[in-house]
Amino acid sequence: MGKKEPFHVDVSSLHSNVTGSCIISNVRFPDGGKLPFITDCGLFQSRDEGKYNDMLPFNPEQIEFGLVTHGHTDHIGRLPLMVRRGFRNPIYTTRDTQSIMAVSLPDSAKVIRSDVKSGRIDHPIYTDTDVARTMQLVKGCNFEQTIHVNENVDVTFFNNGHLFGAALVLVQIKYPSEENINILFTGDYKGDNVFLNLAPLPEWLYELPLTIVSECTYGYMDSSEIKEVFSDNVLRCVRDGGTVVVPTFALGRMQEVLYLLKRLENEGLLPLEIPIYVDGELGIKYTTLCSKGVFNIKEEMKDFLPENVIFVDKLTRRSIIQDQDSCKIIVTTSGMGSFGPAQTYIPAYISNENALIHFTGFTVKDTLGGRLKNTPKGEWVEMMGKEYRKLANVEYTSEFSAHAKADELIAFLQQFKHLNLVLLNHGEESVKDMFAKRVMQEVNPKAVAVLGCGSLFRINPYGLVKIKAIKFI
Ligand SMILES: [Zn+2]
Ligand SMILES: [Zn+2]
Repeated sequence: MGKKEPFHVDVSSLHSNVTGSCIISNVRFPDGGKLPFITDCGLFQSRDEGKYNDMLPFNPEQIEFGLVTHGHTDHIGRLPLMVRRGFRNPIYTTRDTQSIMAVSLPDSAKVIRSDVKSGRIDHPIYTDTDVARTMQLVKGCNFEQTIHVNENVDVTFFNNGHLFGAALVLVQIKYPSEENINILFTGDYKGDNVFLNLAPLPEWLYELPLTIVSECTYGYMDSSEIKEVFSDNVLRCVRDGGTVVVPTFALGRMQEVLYLLKRLENEGLLPLEIPIYVDGELGIKYTTLCSKGVFNIKEEMKDFLPENVIFVDKLTRRSIIQDQDSCKIIVTTSGMGSFGPAQTYIPAYISNENALIHFTGFTVKDTLGGRLKNTPKGEWVEMMGKEYRKLANVEYTSEFSAHAKADELIAFLQQFKHLNLVLLNHGEESVKDMFAKRVMQEVNPKAVAVLGCGSLFRINPYGLVKIKAIKFI
């Protein structure tokens, strides 16, 4: 028995930017009992932060359960490491996220294997065996069906348009003769999704006294500032007979880009004879699953593939690269350019003046996409150990983003009637600070704080109790 303490939860984040998502919440009961749980445990995906991937600054054996908001690698990619280091308890998520994890985690293990082979890292942080063990712990849940994790904790998953299977996760923590402590984790959030029918959130959720742990990736930008440039850029390059390389995330973004190309074809803007190559093993796997209608995709959206789609194998990839002069579109993983066949296509086309390399999402600054952004045209840039001259057009757009923009996040938060506290995470440092001010003014919760790495936030049923500095790494 520990010493008596008032009922509270200590929430802390093990990541400070937008990858490596991991939040630890430690419930402290008045009888001295503790209940630590984890929300997401993702891989760091930038070069700078990659070195943190094998550091878990907590003892996984002590974590009572895991929650997963959605199936992106930067939210799930280190769960097998937790398992390798002794975690043996249930991991709750939605059924669709469970299906995604079954595809994504073995792929992460494969990437790790090839990183060891190429010398990028010196040892594997986990293996296929750890992945298999992890999947045995995963419990796939239905949306809006409350799970009784134990006598003190209920968990409910609500619709979230960020990705197939993505959820807002509500944790209700109970103790006799105390008010509940309710925490809603947004994971990554978006209100809508072109592929999905999303039920509105139930009224009772808006009535709860609540702490929301919210992402704010695009907390610096309103939706009115988004310029739709992708179609025009692609059509211009195609008209000039060039090659378009579109790095995309394997899941969600790749399918959305393909659907947009289909729409351009249907509108007669994109000639049907232009070949559209789809590359990246994981992307092809997900695209095939989507066209089979898994992930609760709307009936009318199952037929989202454009004409003349060619799924690429290694052999065709070589011939696509050699054929520099023909007009074509290559949709390939990974979204930030640093993994997958994008690592081959980008160097192959970066010095081709007729080529367009069009990024379709957020690019962290030390990824290939981020570095190209900071390289002026005509200058040299290092890729995969070689120097290349940047002569192709390199463009970026936020129009596909699967994240709510600042105004959409504010509107989302404003719907909750009893907000005790908003904890902001999943954003660049300056963005979190800027967005916190806006939440204070426009949402007016009792308190707003930035959930950065190195601070612990103590909350009780009525909101924020105190903030303590901690040192994890
Ligand atoms: Zn995500
Ligand atoms: Zn994320």
